[in-house]
Amino acid sequence: MKTISAAVTGVRENTPTVKTITLKPAEPIIFKPGQWIYVFADNGGKKVKRAYSIAAPPGEIRLCVKCVKGGFMSNRLCNTKKGDTLEIAGPFGAFTFTEPSGDVAFIATGTGIAPFMSMLPTLTENGYTGKATVIFGARTEDEILYKDEMKEFSKRMRFEFIPVLSREPSWKGEKGHVQNVIIKKLKPDCDVYVCGLMPMVADVRKLLEEKGFDRKRVHFENYI
Ligand SMILES: Cc1cc2nc3c(=O)[nH]c(=O)nc-3n(C[C@H](O)[C@H](O)[C@H](O)COP(=O)(O)OP(=O)(O)OC[C@H]3O[C@@H](n4cnc5c(N)ncnc54)[C@H](O)[C@@H]3O)c2cc1C
Repeated sequence: MKTISAAVTGVRENTPTVKTITLKPAEPIIFKPGQWIYVFADNGGKKVKRAYSIAAPPGEIRLCVKCVKGGFMSNRLCNTKKGDTLEIAGPFGAFTFTEPSGDVAFIATGTGIAPFMSMLPTLTENGYTGKATVIFGARTEDEILYKDEMKEFSKRMRFEFIPVLSREPSWKGEKGHVQNVIIKKLKPDCDVYVCGLMPMVADVRKLLEEKGFDRKRVHFENYI
């Protein structure tokens, strides 16, 4: 696999456990919104690699990384600083985005929102006229990612951002899991993109099928 070096040009702390890392690769990476790259690192003499979705529109490379307790690569990335160099390869993946003719929903938990940070700017750039809904699951309010960006999207298209919190009793918005909101808010005549850890993705896919969503219009990416 051909690898290239990429300079870390910025690190932003989104929440206490999630960081957005901006990279400048030595040569351009031409990708489609929804695709991911490999990041490589040496772990005790063994070269290991992990996949990370590109969380930026084409032309830019940002990664949105959750610092997993005890995790090798995620902690490497969360400790990275501006001026460091990473070894990367890509792009890869078939979870790519086609602008829908009707409405579209994006469903994520945690850093599963990363590929949507590539897809959503594409919609605003293209003057999309349908409605885009993001249903985002997290435990607590401080885990809500990209609030400012979501406000910007709502200024530029018909857009609704629905955070759903499972462990925030005083939260005035939606509580519980993304599945509750899917049942309440989504109608089966829309395209759906789902991304996150495998149990959530499997559960949401089953729910969408039961609710009569067209399988061909449901797209998904599993993180593990
Ligand atoms: C296509 C694809 C895209 C991905 N995109 C992203 C992304 O944009 N952002 C991102 O943060 N991750 C993403 N991942 C997950 C990422 O590749 C790693 O698996 C993750 O960062 C953990 O790697 P690690 O080396 O730190 O942990 P490891 O050392 O591999 O694992 C340590 C332990 O943590 C557990 N674990 C791993 N991931 C998680 C998790 N998310 N939550 C809780 N426990 C976990 C493992 O089961 C293991 O027990 C993606 C995965 C795939 C397949």
